[in-house]
Amino acid sequence: MTSSPAPLNVPGTASSTGHIRVCIAGTGTDAGKTVVTAGLAGAARSLGLVPLALKPVQTGCPRGADGSLAAPDAAVYREACAAVPAEALLLFEDACSPHLAARREGRAVTAAGLAGLIMERVEKHEGFTVIEGAGGVMVPLNDTETLPDLFALLGFPVVLAAANRLGAVNHALLSVAALRARGVEAAGFILTMPAPAGDSELDRRILADNRETIARMTGLPCLAEIPFVEELRAPDAAVRARGWERIARLLVPAVEFLCGGREAQPEGTPEKVAPDNSSTGSAPDLLSFDREHIWHPYTSALRPLRAYEAVETRGTRIILRDGQSLVDGMASWWCAIHGYNHPALLAALRAQAARMPHVMFGGLTHEPAVGLARKLLDMAPAGLERVFFADSGSVAVEVALKMALQYQQAGGRPEKSRILTVRGGYHGDTLGAMSVCDPENGMHALFRGVLPRQAFAPRPECRFDAPYDPAQALGLEAAFREHGPAAAALIMEPILQGAGGMWMYHPQYLRRARELCREYGCLLVLDEIATGFGRTGELFACGWAGVEPDILCVGKALTGGVMTLAAALATGEVARGVSRDGGVLMHGPTFMANPLACAVAGASLDLLADGAWREDVARIEAALDKGLAPCRGMPGVRDVRVLGAVGVLEMERPMNTERLQEYFIREHGVWIRPFARLIYVMPPYITPAGELETLTRAMRGAVTENVWE
Ligand code: PMP
Repeated sequence: MTSSPAPLNVPGTASSTGHIRVCIAGTGTDAGKTVVTAGLAGAARSLGLVPLALKPVQTGCPRGADGSLAAPDAAVYREACAAVPAEALLLFEDACSPHLAARREGRAVTAAGLAGLIMERVEKHEGFTVIEGAGGVMVPLNDTETLPDLFALLGFPVVLAAANRLGAVNHALLSVAALRARGVEAAGFILTMPAPAGDSELDRRILADNRETIARMTGLPCLAEIPFVEELRAPDAAVRARGWERIARLLVPAVEFLCGGREAQPEGTPEKVAPDNSSTGSAPDLLSFDREHIWHPYTSALRPLRAYEAVETRGTRIILRDGQSLVDGMASWWCAIHGYNHPALLAALRAQAARMPHVMFGGLTHEPAVGLARKLLDMAPAGLERVFFADSGSVAVEVALKMALQYQQAGGRPEKSRILTVRGGYHGDTLGAMSVCDPENGMHALFRGVLPRQAFAPRPECRFDAPYDPAQALGLEAAFREHGPAAAALIMEPILQGAGGMWMYHPQYLRRARELCREYGCLLVLDEIATGFGRTGELFACGWAGVEPDILCVGKALTGGVMTLAAALATGEVARGVSRDGGVLMHGPTFMANPLACAVAGASLDLLADGAWREDVARIEAALDKGLAPCRGMPGVRDVRVLGAVGVLEMERPMNTERLQEYFIREHGVWIRPFARLIYVMPPYITPAGELETLTRAMRGAVTENVWE
C-alpha cells in the first residue's frame, strides 16, 4: 500500500498540470451521489475533458455465476457516459457500511490504503476525475476512521450531493459541519432529487427554500440542481441515455466552476445579494461610505481612486459584487501563491481557531509558532538559526534593522550606526523601512528631517538576463568605501527589486555585495518579503546567487495570503552578538506569532514542500515570456522583463491607473493594478494556461489600444 499522498489540488481549480479531481460526498445513503458522479463525468466529457469516475469502496456487489463481484455504480457510470473509464476499487458483497462489510470478510479498509489506491489511478489520468464516496458523510471505514479522513488525505475539492426533500437542510448542515470538523471544506453542493417531488404548495415551498437556506447557512455555492429524471428508470437504454444527457447539460456550469472557470450559476439560483443598477453592481451606500470614511493605500482622502467591491475569492478568481469573476494577476500583492480559499489553508485556520486563536507570546509559546519556525529554518538559506515573528513585512524590516544596529553596538562598534542600501529599493512604509526605500520614488521628501539618514549606492544597473560586467558594481564598491565603516548593514531585495521599479538584476552583483559586506564588517540583510517562497523560480531569490544572508526578512506569501505574518530570521552569530552581555532584542508586537497566522503559514509551507511550485513557476515564466514578447519594441514600451512568475511591461511614461484598471476589468475580466510606469503581473502559481493567456492578452491590449496613455 502506498503512503498517504500529499494534497494535490485547490478548490474548484485545475491543479498545476491541468488535472481536475473532485470527491463527491452525500448527505445520506440515497442522496444521489452516483447520479452526480456520472453526470459530472458526462458534463466534463461534453466540455472536451477526459473523465474518469472512481468508486473507492463499493458494498452490496452482486456475486456472478463465476463467483466474481460486479460493481453496480461503475456500471452506472459506464451507462451514463459510454466513454468514461470507470472503476470500483474495493468490492464487498454485503450491502452495508464498509467497516462492517470488510470486518465480515476479514479484510481491512483504511483511509491511507484507499488514498493510495485512488492516487495510483488518479496520477495516471489526465483530465477530470470524480471520486464517489460511500454512503453519507460520516460513514465508518473501519473502527476509527470515517470518510472525511479519506477526503482530508486526498485534499481534493469535495462536492456535497444533497437530496432535496424534507430534512435536506438538517442533513446538509450536519454533513458540512462534519467535513469541516475534519478540516475538509466543501467546494459547493449539488441538489438532487432521488424521488419525484410532492406536488403540494408546501412541498414546492420546502424544495425552493432548501437551496437558499443551505447556501446561506453553509456559505457554500449551489453548483447545480438536478430534478427527478424519470427517464433513468426506463427499461429502454436509449431513453435512459437521453436522461443522462439532460443531467450532463445541467452539470456543465458545475464542471466549469470546478475547473476554475466562470461562476456556477444554475438557472434560477438566486444571487446571494441582489445587484443594484450602478455600474459596479455595489450597493451605492457601501461605496460612498468607503469613499467618505475609509483610507485606501496611497490615496487622497478627498479624491480617492476608484475602488471596486470584492465579495468573494476562489482559486485564481476575485468575484466582484456584480458577479464578474476576474482572473487575478496580482495574487493580492504577491501573497496568494496557492490561489484563494485553498482548503488546506482554510482547514488549518479553522482548526486553530477552534483551539486557540491568539495568545500573547511574552512568556508563552505554542506549537503553531514552533512548528512554523522549524519548517522555515529547514527551508531557509543555510546559517539562519533564529526566527523573530512580526506582524507585517515593514515590521520585520524594522526588526532586522534593529537586530543589525544592536549587533554592532553590542560588539563594541557604536560607529556602525547607519544602514547602507541601493537605490530603487522598497522595504515598507514604517519610518525605519521608509528610510531605506529609494530616496526619489520613496517618500523621503515628505519626511525630510524625520527619517533616519541612510547611505545609498546607485541602483544595480546590470540586467538579470544580460552578461555581467564587473564594472557594474563600481558604484556599490565606492559606496562601501565611503560609508562601509559607518554602516551596520547593507539591506537589499535580492535579484528582484519590487515596488521600487520591478527591476531584475544579475546574481553576480549580489555575490559582490556579499563580499563587500564581509570586507567592511557589515551584516547583509536580504528582504525576501516579495521574492520569497518561489516567486522568482528559486525558493528564495538569493538562491540564484548562492548567497546566504546574515538576516533574512520574509512575509507576504508566508501564509499563502490568508493572514498577515512576517519574520526576520538571523544567523546564530547575529543572535549571539545581539544577546552578548545580557543584551535583549528590543521588539515585541502584541500579535507576535499569532497562532492563527502561524498555523496557516505552516500549512502553506507544507503545500510548497512537494516542490510542485517549481514546475508551476517555470510554466508561468514561459507563458509570460511568450505572451509579453510581442510588446517588445511597441510604441510606448520601454522594456519587457520576465523572471519566474513575474511579468513586467515598463512604459515610457507614468500611466492613469484608474483608467487602465477599468479597461482590464471591463474588456478582459482581469485584475491587474499598474503603478507609475509599470504594468505587471505576479499571478497565483496555480493559474492555468488559458488564464495566463488572458492576462497577457489584456496587457498587450492596454499597449496596442493605447489605453495606457
Ligand atoms: N519589503 C518588500 C520587498 C515589500 O515588497 C514589501 C511590501 N510591498 C514590504 C517590505 C513591506 O511589507 P508589508 O506591506 O507587509 O508591511
